Amino acid sequence: MIYDIAIIGGGPAGMMAAGRSAELGANVILLEKNKDLGLKLLMTGNGRCNITNLIEDPRKLVQAYGANGKFLFSALSKFGPREVIEFFNQRGVRTKVEDNNRVFTASDKAADVLRALVNYLKYTRVQVRTGARVKEITSLDNKIEKIILANGEEIVANKFIITTGGKSYPLSGSTGDGYKWLKDFGHEIVPTLPALTSLVLKDKFIPELEGVSLARVQISLLRDKKNLFSGIGETVFTRDGISGPLILNMSNLIGRELPAKLKLQIDFYPDLDLSGLDKKIQKDFQVDKNKSFKNFIAKLLAPKLAPIIIKLSGIDPEKKVNQVSGEERRMLIRLLKEFGLEIYGLAGYERAMLTSGGVKLSEVDPKTMKSKLIDNLYLAGEMLDLAGPTGGFNLQVSWSTGYIAGESAAGLDLGFSPVKW
Ligand SMILES: Cc1cc2nc3c(=O)[nH]c(=O)nc-3n(C[C@H](O)[C@H](O)[C@H](O)COP(=O)(O)OP(=O)(O)OC[C@H]3O[C@@H](n4cnc5c(N)ncnc54)[C@H](O)[C@@H]3O)c2cc1C
Repeated sequence: MIYDIAIIGGGPAGMMAAGRSAELGANVILLEKNKDLGLKLLMTGNGRCNITNLIEDPRKLVQAYGANGKFLFSALSKFGPREVIEFFNQRGVRTKVEDNNRVFTASDKAADVLRALVNYLKYTRVQVRTGARVKEITSLDNKIEKIILANGEEIVANKFIITTGGKSYPLSGSTGDGYKWLKDFGHEIVPTLPALTSLVLKDKFIPELEGVSLARVQISLLRDKKNLFSGIGETVFTRDGISGPLILNMSNLIGRELPAKLKLQIDFYPDLDLSGLDKKIQKDFQVDKNKSFKNFIAKLLAPKLAPIIIKLSGIDPEKKVNQVSGEERRMLIRLLKEFGLEIYGLAGYERAMLTSGGVKLSEVDPKTMKSKLIDNLYLAGEMLDLAGPTGGFNLQVSWSTGYIAGESAAGLDLGFSPVKW
């Protein structure tokens, strides 16, 4: 049997591409190596699925993806956040908008999104094959010929869409297989790195801070005292480093800067400058003048953080605060405004929500997602050299590029007519 379209990878991009092309009348097969579709999708947004980010103006939206964002302009204009929300609403998934325009399932269940997509595939009569690992793809004269599965079975189609994702969370099935095939076909792969990932820190006291969560701090990234990035937000210490939205969004930049010597600096009081904090501490010292320094700090900071600050300050913990010298107080203030941490590296693909780098965008047509090198090949999703911040931006890439790839692979040139359902 020769399919119109064969799609490799049953994640968000692959499911969207398959449903859309079948909806337009194409005879589609979707191949997924796991025994179920959308394993990673179920993990998104801590199981709640941050479906998209509701920035409606495509010009503003593309800016979130940095310099490469302009590649998405056409896809986002056609199938942007509003269309994605409508798509899921029409298929029974109610949505809600939270802070920073983040759109979630109203039920807080990523499984609802997956169910809607599986139903989409069912109604559009996509042939779904799970447990089907693609081992090899053969090509002839700039055209893909066939797919060979791990069990030796061959799949032949007129057109092919590759949506195998990146390398992050490899246990979910995304092991970077697509990069290897595309490299063999002559595509350039921009070096990949774990992105949206936590950091591993060198400082010995880090394990003692595991679980400490700070609701509002300023974190700066420094290279040789040069400030590369600064932001205010929430952060949390892990067993070997630090995480949280601010850190995740910084990780892409950090990955590109390493192995340079990089430092993080935490300001526990972002709303006060050095002299403002000094005034506050002096005032608090007055109020608590007979308190030991140890008990004073315990009132100020998280229980696991207090002993570390005390140790680093070099101030005798039993000393009454009214005996703390001006010099000691200034040392304390520096620690609270410029708490330095040394970066060892990124936590790695196992803990990265995203893979940055990927298929070079200049080799893909942004209007159709068609490869410029291989005649009958389309690409979509995380495997492209696109990386957005947290907040629903990366699933939006998969929805938009998957939809466009499916639609153009099932193009009117093939004479398909939309399925009625
Ligand atoms: C923990 C976590 C939370 C996240 N939360 C969010 C969020 O809330 N919002 C957001 O926007 N983004 C989030 N992301 C990112 C988002 O999940 C990805 O960007 C998105 O899943 C990429 O979709 P994709 O279809 O391109 O690739 P994937 O989801 O990686 O799917 C690729 C599929 O291809 C299959 N495959 C690979 N190789 C083969 C092969 N050889 N043969 C057959 N099949 C193969 C894989 O098994 C996999 O199912 C999160 C990521 C993680 C890890």
